[in-house]
Amino acid sequence: MVLHYPGGIDLTEYGIEIPVAPDRTQQVLDALATGAASGVDGAWLAGPDGSVIGPDDLLRVHAPHYVERGFGPGVDELMIEVFELRNDDGSYYRYNPAAAKKPLSDLFAGWIRWMSGTYQCGKEALHSGFCFYLGGGAHHGHYDFGHGFCVFNDIVTAIRRLQADRVVDTAWVIDVDAHKGDGTAALTADDPAVSTLSIHMAHGWPLDLPDHDRQGRPAPWLVPSTIDVPIAPGEEREYLPGLRRALAALDTWPRPDIVYVVDGADPYEHDELPSTAGLRLSLTQLLERDEMIHDFLAARAIPQAWLMSGGYGRRAWEPFAGFLAARIAG
Ligand SMILES: [Zn+2]
Repeated sequence: MVLHYPGGIDLTEYGIEIPVAPDRTQQVLDALATGAASGVDGAWLAGPDGSVIGPDDLLRVHAPHYVERGFGPGVDELMIEVFELRNDDGSYYRYNPAAAKKPLSDLFAGWIRWMSGTYQCGKEALHSGFCFYLGGGAHHGHYDFGHGFCVFNDIVTAIRRLQADRVVDTAWVIDVDAHKGDGTAALTADDPAVSTLSIHMAHGWPLDLPDHDRQGRPAPWLVPSTIDVPIAPGEEREYLPGLRRALAALDTWPRPDIVYVVDGADPYEHDELPSTAGLRLSLTQLLERDEMIHDFLAARAIPQAWLMSGGYGRRAWEPFAGFLAARIAG
């Protein structure tokens, strides 16, 4: 099952100039419709089922004062912070309010709606075994702040909601985005019910941020995942063997009730976000990565909920489309 929330977030409508191809999701759907899915009935594609993530769900994961900012007059500044749209001297960075067609409060509302898909994706995975949401994966959302374009952490929020629904007790998060899944690791560090695996660039953002935050606390972005697999620049050949070893380590743990896969396409060699330059995987390597995770989970009959996560520029759709074409054809 592929889950699509129509009317996705187009940052350019808000004057934000981050190079996310605005039609990434549509490009994936177009590629599937003319390729693997042509002649296949439409049952592989689903839309919103009315699942809603609300303030109560956010409060299971995030600080009350932080959640309140989004729902109050502080929302503009919150979005400027999270999307890193301001330089140290106060001027705007990658942000041109004069080009905005919509207010940043609309972006926040769209973000909350987008998070609901991550929850729905989990429910669908529990029902049918596999769901890929063409959205989600905000793994840089922390307890009382967000960075790296992530307001709240939809992954942990969805897991906590599924636990509150009493449909899961335990979960794994397998995060293959180019950037470390720092928020997910910090939010679940003290919880044995949730285990995290992150394979990511050994250097660069967020690992090169200061080792203390502005309040002088040890930096939450450096909290280790249950298993971290850092890949140094030029060591792309170590990527698939490293992932294979990490999955073998997971295999020694009790089977979880659900796995969220944070399936970033930003390790792709054609990714256009400067901060992903430390990892340059080919399309073949990315597809092998995704097949390896899918087959590992399928062989153990573990429900798998996949999220798009990172992937920037004109060719970001290619790894997603390749993986999903194989699922639909198979
Ligand atoms: Zn990323």
